[in-house]
Amino acid sequence: MRILIVEDEAKIRGSTKRALVEDGFNVVEAEEGETGLHLAATEEFDLIILDVMLPLRDGWSVVKALREKGKQAPVLFLSARDDVPDRVKGLELGGDDYLVKPFAFSELLARVRSLLRRPAARQADKLRVEDLELDLVRHKATRGGKALDLTAKEFSLLALLVQRTGEVIARTLLLEQVWDVNFDGDTNVIDVAVGRLRKKLDDPFPTKLIHTVRGVGYVLERRD
Ligand code: CA
Repeated sequence: MRILIVEDEAKIRGSTKRALVEDGFNVVEAEEGETGLHLAATEEFDLIILDVMLPLRDGWSVVKALREKGKQAPVLFLSARDDVPDRVKGLELGGDDYLVKPFAFSELLARVRSLLRRPAARQADKLRVEDLELDLVRHKATRGGKALDLTAKEFSLLALLVQRTGEVIARTLLLEQVWDVNFDGDTNVIDVAVGRLRKKLDDPFPTKLIHTVRGVGYVLERRD
């Protein structure tokens, strides 16, 4: 299990790392928010322990950017602040738990273990890319907090694209997976369905998420 700690106070970072390493975790450290975000966005971690007040980029902004990139690793916030509005803000932005400094290592380890038991279920039922969120259990999609009115097929299509964010998905695969049809025939049905999906998902928003890869299929990703 790999954990990233982003904490600027060397003493806390060092002692937290030791406690986790003794408990058998593989630990990577960052001293400020930019490096923390870069590591969290480019490498795979099972959990991120994130201080709120950090140089260069605060913990809230790190978690917001991570969730927008579709990264779902659970985040445990560390903070010297213990007032409720901050705590709520952290959780609303996509944090999973909150620990107030100073904390006992037994408490930290208990929270870490509890978060590590959760991610599979959590990843399975909610997916996020940028401002798009899919609830796979309730079959609901929202963009920028607004509900998208999708048919069952459109939702399945979108879920497949989101689950494979950044990968080009061939029309034939979409046909197989979403329409449960396995043949090399007419994939026009896909183009029509994607067209309808785009009208709801992308047309009302400045950032387009679905892109056509000519002759192949479609990819869902942010392109600046
Ligand atoms: Ca700090």
